[in-house]
Amino acid sequence: MTPGDMSALYRSLPNIDEILGADGIADVIATGELPRDLVLRCAREELEALRSAIAQGKRSEPVVLDEVTASVRAAVAAAQQPSLRRVINATGIVIHTNLGRSVLPESALEEVIATSQGYTNLEYDIAAGERGHRGDHVESLICEITGAEAALAVNNNAAAVLLTLAALAAGKKTIVSRGQLVEIGGSFRIPDIMAASGTVMVEVGTTNKTHLSDYAHAVGDRTGLLFKAHTSNYQLVGFTEEVSLVDLVALGAERGVPVVEDLGSGVLLDLSAYGLPAEPTVQESLAVGADVVTFSGDKLLGGPQAGIICGKRSVLARLRSHPLARALRLDKMTLAALEATLRLYRDPATAVNLIPTLRALTMPMERCRQQAEQLAAALREAADSSGLGPALNLEVCGEMSLAGGGSLPGAEIPTAVVALATEKVSTAALEQRLRALPVPVVARVHEERLLFDVRTLSDDDIELLVPELATLFAELAG
Ligand SMILES: *Cc1c(COP(=O)(O)O)cnc(C)c1O
Repeated sequence: MTPGDMSALYRSLPNIDEILGADGIADVIATGELPRDLVLRCAREELEALRSAIAQGKRSEPVVLDEVTASVRAAVAAAQQPSLRRVINATGIVIHTNLGRSVLPESALEEVIATSQGYTNLEYDIAAGERGHRGDHVESLICEITGAEAALAVNNNAAAVLLTLAALAAGKKTIVSRGQLVEIGGSFRIPDIMAASGTVMVEVGTTNKTHLSDYAHAVGDRTGLLFKAHTSNYQLVGFTEEVSLVDLVALGAERGVPVVEDLGSGVLLDLSAYGLPAEPTVQESLAVGADVVTFSGDKLLGGPQAGIICGKRSVLARLRSHPLARALRLDKMTLAALEATLRLYRDPATAVNLIPTLRALTMPMERCRQQAEQLAAALREAADSSGLGPALNLEVCGEMSLAGGGSLPGAEIPTAVVALATEKVSTAALEQRLRALPVPVVARVHEERLLFDVRTLSDDDIELLVPELATLFAELAG
């Protein structure tokens, strides 16, 4: 390219005023549809990119205004897109931590909106006309459902454990089995949380076996707590032994040391009635006499992110008055969602029906197959009418779903999936295209096919998914 050609290219670049005044830009700025400063920034970036393309000899055609305004509009639209947004979870992993764990029940969504649209009685006692307590909105429900004397809800279960350790055992020793020094994804590790709380962790037993005598020998004057962590995301199998909560509670009572159990996923009803592995329930741990039990709000409970602490009244009072309780407290939207979710537990059948996490986990195989057949038929039709037709390979097959979220370790739940592949593009490319859809779809790749597990697809999801895939099929066919 001659220097003359290059300067002709530079001269073809519109200036900022031309871009801001162009059709499709000036009008949307004038109506306030797009913020002027953002458009300006995107226009500058676009011009900069074009200049550098010319400088590097990557551009041989003169630049036209329409092309620039289209790029600017696309850049502005991308910048206006919310960062946190809805996705479709077709992975079959029900409590998918990366995809936001539990989907909220309808009634919880309604309560979040109702209590966020206007002012609320968050810390106001309506009957008395005076200051109230934000904790009151969920405490009595938690106690009613679990049988606890007192309860407190905080930011998440990591916060629940941190607050419990800090309030009950800072500057003292906390005894824990070596078999329970768990790491939960996202950097929650028992030894680290112990250190952060100011308690001194005392490990007892071995990786595979810990006996009651190991705890008994370790208890001394400076012991603040006996701590048990439910190994909710892995299983110890083979030559193993853990001390039961009953035995720990007896030892704690004898030596005057409180016992805390971190249950992790915190299930409130017996899932074995639905063919899932039996998990220790919160009610069982409290009935056995644990002083404090902690668990997550968004794992098996199926509510918003929260950490629930329940147990003895006198012990909870110490937690409530610790400065960290204020730092870790819940906001009104979460409280509204948590209260509405907990209310559903007054009737177990209602809970299983209306809490999406429980409904997904307990969805029977016949229903999964039915749903998968329906989805497959809709996708087959979309493929045929888009012209992709026989180039789409599609089949319903049996697979396994996972509970996820460090819940029900090792439990594989039989499910039905729609498996899909096409000769038009590789499975990896197809998976990428799915993530780029307006409502991104996250699916599983297995043996060169994409799997859509219906266990984690709601009716709403399917209504979005089918037309999105129809558009994608038409692009692939075109
Ligand atoms: C999940 C889990 C946690 C952390 O709970 P978050 O709600 O994610 O903070 C702590 N302990 C156990 C045993 C868990 O399973």
